[in-house]
Amino acid sequence: MKGAGERTRSLKSRKKSNQQPASQIQESTLKSKSRQRKHQGQSLTACSVKCSMVEGGTETETEPSQALNEREAVSSVRKSGTKSEKYVGAHLSIQAGGIWKAVSHSVEIGGRALGLFLRSPRSWRARPLEEKAAERFRLCCKEYDFPARFILPHSPYVMNLGSPKPDVYEKSRTMLVEELQCCRQLGLTLYNMHPGAGIDATSVDECLNRIADGINYAHGLVEGVTVVLENMSCQGTTIGGKFEELRGIIDRVQDKSRIGVCLDTCHAFAAGYDLSKKEGLQKMLNEFSSVVGLHYLKAVHVNDSKGALGCHLDRHENIGRGHIGLEGFRHIMNEPRFNDLPMILETPYSPVHGDPREEIELLYSFYKGKGNT
Ligand SMILES: [Zn+2]
Repeated sequence: MKGAGERTRSLKSRKKSNQQPASQIQESTLKSKSRQRKHQGQSLTACSVKCSMVEGGTETETEPSQALNEREAVSSVRKSGTKSEKYVGAHLSIQAGGIWKAVSHSVEIGGRALGLFLRSPRSWRARPLEEKAAERFRLCCKEYDFPARFILPHSPYVMNLGSPKPDVYEKSRTMLVEELQCCRQLGLTLYNMHPGAGIDATSVDECLNRIADGINYAHGLVEGVTVVLENMSCQGTTIGGKFEELRGIIDRVQDKSRIGVCLDTCHAFAAGYDLSKKEGLQKMLNEFSSVVGLHYLKAVHVNDSKGALGCHLDRHENIGRGHIGLEGFRHIMNEPRFNDLPMILETPYSPVHGDPREEIELLYSFYKGKGNT
């Protein structure tokens, strides 16, 4: 993903909506559904929840006990997807000191999966995670029945394990270790990263070596977390647009039980897989299966693409507003190979488009049910 400001939603105003009684939440869900029906016909309309794109603002902390009282209210929003084999959610930004709020926010908007940054995505430095905050996060996951396997933290943009520059590589390696330690503290078991980028096409093999060495190094220091490599769009010298490159990294990783892949639909489309058509989706998954292996598939990033097929540009768009289109996501939502995986939206937010609650509902409206593909 790219452009955190565009693609993440802060938790501002969530507190207000958390305090709604269940009846009001149900009503707002119904209103949201009527907007969704309009969207299916034409386009997304106004956002029902005021969200902000600001990272790191301030917010009054919600006590865990209060969060528990809210559980019953928010559970009504979650009904739409509870019988589904699909676990759809959104990448949500977090407020300073309140990382646990991402979990309750996700539940509140009907999410059954969650993506998040563990630090500012454009900074090398991170404030250490306080144990009190980590404990609250673990408690929230337990109380909201949000399994760790549906939560996928995302690496900061500055991390580049493919870099031939020793200082950048060293900082990236240290960052990966810190991030995996943070996952451990939060009770999380998956960590998504962009594989990295080299300098020119001739350095691909060396780049794969560096990336795998970095992962092996981090694996040696931190147990229990699976590193999930994200497929990329073939932009510039980024690694991971070709499945062979992902396989090349996996081949070099010693502990194969702690390495996996997250398929980003926008990146795959930009790399040349025509996900606007069922045949294109099948082609991509068949290739993935033969080159990488389906058992390595751990997650999906569900994004439409601003760029045309094969454009190599990493530019996310709201569901149905890009070149993949609504039909493409109808097939994606009924693809059995995506069952029981976190499916995380990383679409842009604006006051007019991209309310994650509406996009989650829209995706679930495509789901035909068990066995109907
Ligand atoms: Zn992504």
